[in-house]
Amino acid sequence: MSALPVTQVRLRAYPTGPVGPETWQITHDAPTAPGPNQVLLQMHMLSIDPGMRGWISPKRSYMPPVKPGEVMRGFGVGTVLESQAKAFAPGDVVTGLTGIQTTGVVDAMFLRKIDLAVAPASSHLSGLGMTGFTAYFGLLDIGKPKAGQTVVVSAAAGAVGSMACQIAKIQGCRVVGIAGGADKCAYLHDVLGLDAVIDYKTDDLGAALKAAAPGGVDLYFDNVGGAVLDTVLMQIKHHARVVLCGGISQYGSMQHARGPANYLQLIAQSATMQGFTMMDFMHRVPEAQAQILAWQQAGQLQFRQHVLHGIECFPQAFDMIFSGANQGKLLIDLQA
Ligand code: NDP
Repeated sequence: MSALPVTQVRLRAYPTGPVGPETWQITHDAPTAPGPNQVLLQMHMLSIDPGMRGWISPKRSYMPPVKPGEVMRGFGVGTVLESQAKAFAPGDVVTGLTGIQTTGVVDAMFLRKIDLAVAPASSHLSGLGMTGFTAYFGLLDIGKPKAGQTVVVSAAAGAVGSMACQIAKIQGCRVVGIAGGADKCAYLHDVLGLDAVIDYKTDDLGAALKAAAPGGVDLYFDNVGGAVLDTVLMQIKHHARVVLCGGISQYGSMQHARGPANYLQLIAQSATMQGFTMMDFMHRVPEAQAQILAWQQAGQLQFRQHVLHGIECFPQAFDMIFSGANQGKLLIDLQA
């Protein structure tokens, strides 16, 4: 068995208020051997996702919560060191729910093989991973954009948001991005070429949206919920689609998330609001992967990544995603 040291981030207890360093415990152990249908992985890179906040809440969700004492759930990329699973052999590079650890035993059912010759690990966790696939299916399958329509995206400079904006532009839509701060807005305007950007932290969102989308909003791809969702709802068009991808403004208190006060607009505009998780689309990952890669290789789309180093920075990384300090897909590189 490998003699590599194992560093793992474990959940200490369910947070009752803001998540702080006391929520986590960093442990060091010797590696264990994989059991039937398991592999031992050496990790290269970890993904930090807002959805992790839901995984450390005991409230019902799309996955069971992580239990106190367990290794924190998380996506990553690693190399198989030992395998007791038919689908994987030592040397395979895999991605999936690997856990927040440097080395560890993982159930094979949560993993799929990837090819680092196609793209680096960081891309397989951003545009060519769950982040990109979420934007792809949420925007195209749930949102059903048509050329010429006005699409609004919140947390637009973030991992999923920046992909959704670019895919909407590729569809020929007029795209309005909502983000916090001048740097993020400049990125959306100058680099991604959005038609309009709104800084929700400094602008009057309602007035700015009226100016940016005078004819109203055909499709709103919502990552934040709360006041932003309410404001956009007041400006949706007849037969608009509101895609609920995430509601990060409500993740601070999962027990008391606030629903949209302006939901009656859905009736008034014969509009739909639909939530989804990427889990609904796992069977179509090859399709999304091929299309996103083709767009990237054609120069139509880029992945924005914000890379930190070392597993010890996990608590800080978790905090960054909720304070908005991340500029694109937040990753932890374990190899540097
Ligand atoms: P991001 O890279 O977008 O980072 C999160 C961003 O959210 C921050 O940078 C910040 O941007 C913004 N934000 C944080 N707090 C607030 C707040 N209180 N109000 C408004 N904005 C806030 O993360 P991801 O791209 O990984 O995730 C984006 C959303 O997509 C999340 O809601 C996530 O849960 C959801 N998601 C859903 C999936 C699904 O299957 N349905 C899968 C993956 C993600 P800013 O500085 O602009 O405020």
